[in-house]
Amino acid sequence: MERAILVITHLKKDRNAWEAEEDVQELIELTRSSGCEVLAQVKAEVTHPNPAYFIGSGKAQEVALLAQEKGADVVIFNDDLSSTQQRNLEDVLNIKTIDRTQLILDIFAQHAKSAEGKIQVELAQVEYLLPRLSGKGIMLSRLGGGIGTRGPGEQKLEVDRRRIRKRITRLRQDLEKISQRRQALRKKRKEVDIPTVAIIGYTNAGKTSLINTLTSSEELVRDSLFSTLDSVSRRYVLPDKQKILFLDTVGFLHRLPHNLIEAFKSTLEEVVEADILLHVLDISDPLAQKKKDAVYEVLAELEIRDKPIITVLNKIDKIERPDFTERQLSRYENSVAISALNKLGIEELIRKITNRLVRQVALLKTFVPQEKFRLLNLIYAEGEILKESYQDRGVYIEAKVPYIVRDRLLSLLKDKD
Ligand code: GDP
Ligand code: MG
Repeated sequence: MERAILVITHLKKDRNAWEAEEDVQELIELTRSSGCEVLAQVKAEVTHPNPAYFIGSGKAQEVALLAQEKGADVVIFNDDLSSTQQRNLEDVLNIKTIDRTQLILDIFAQHAKSAEGKIQVELAQVEYLLPRLSGKGIMLSRLGGGIGTRGPGEQKLEVDRRRIRKRITRLRQDLEKISQRRQALRKKRKEVDIPTVAIIGYTNAGKTSLINTLTSSEELVRDSLFSTLDSVSRRYVLPDKQKILFLDTVGFLHRLPHNLIEAFKSTLEEVVEADILLHVLDISDPLAQKKKDAVYEVLAELEIRDKPIITVLNKIDKIERPDFTERQLSRYENSVAISALNKLGIEELIRKITNRLVRQVALLKTFVPQEKFRLLNLIYAEGEILKESYQDRGVYIEAKVPYIVRDRLLSLLKDKD
């Protein structure tokens, strides 16, 4: 296991929302999830980042001594370093030095599972590395291996400039091909047109646990049609017989490196197209409110702040005082308290989804033959007509109707009178 020294740089300006102490906690969590042990942390107040070292050169010396004394393998900075800063720091510290972006890329590299996810992560990694490979080359190439050099899957990241350029071209081409395939798949899904419920939230909130808890219930079957897609999607049948699709999604992070937002856009596209968002929040986490804000910022960036959201307050089993949970429930609009792990509150959650979906509209495009004209009343009563064209034997109609009504209509239309 690699051993790290963390350097928490606290910029004096901004950084008001997220306090220094919270930055420390998050960097520790991120470091651990990349499989690295934290030996020590150093805090540095920075008024203006030093162009050569980010922190002052005296502070850099101090970190170098500490790293040597503790026998560290890597120094991790909480802020993004320029390629010059990174190179200079590696000269002074004499061990591998990485920044927060590289740390996050490393974690994503270990977690990417699908072909597309792997390509996207590798592309983000090599694009990040390329400008850092000028001159004598960075420490990564000398030391090789470990944090900051892991590629998705088993392979090691290429560190030769010329080969990296070729690789970037190749990765972009592969991505293009996969993206076309994905679009075809998504179109197919649209045709099936099952309402989708995307499970979103900060990393570690319990999204995957929730989808697993739902999976273990018998109504749920693995959806083979969409199993090639990156994010896990599972079919579920609500008590009123409405079929829905649950989507697990990649976790949100505060200050997600921007090239990663780009890289993961296709995963987020599924969130954009979802009918309902389940926002999972860990209420036992003192930072819950701030993490919620971070998630909402990304939603705003995706221009989907107005989508129906159910706030799922997870991990209530860790809350000792019931009035705390009650207060949180009244604080978050349209919320439900659950424990994904202990299967508490799941029924209430399903009820909330059902209630929301009853109001959710779907597009109905169908031909109604003369002998079924009595069904038109149902459409007029429940929906909004977009197009109506009378033909010889009936009428072609396009209307917005609630999902439930549409499913009932379609099955009534199929029935033989
Ligand atoms: P994700 O990153 O949002 O997908 O989060 P995970 O589902 O991977 O869960 C993160 C951690 O929280 C895991 O260690 C889970 O076991 C734990 N966890 C999830 N749900 C609960 C819960 O209801 N109660 C408790 N105590 N822990 C939970
Ligand atoms: Mg997960």
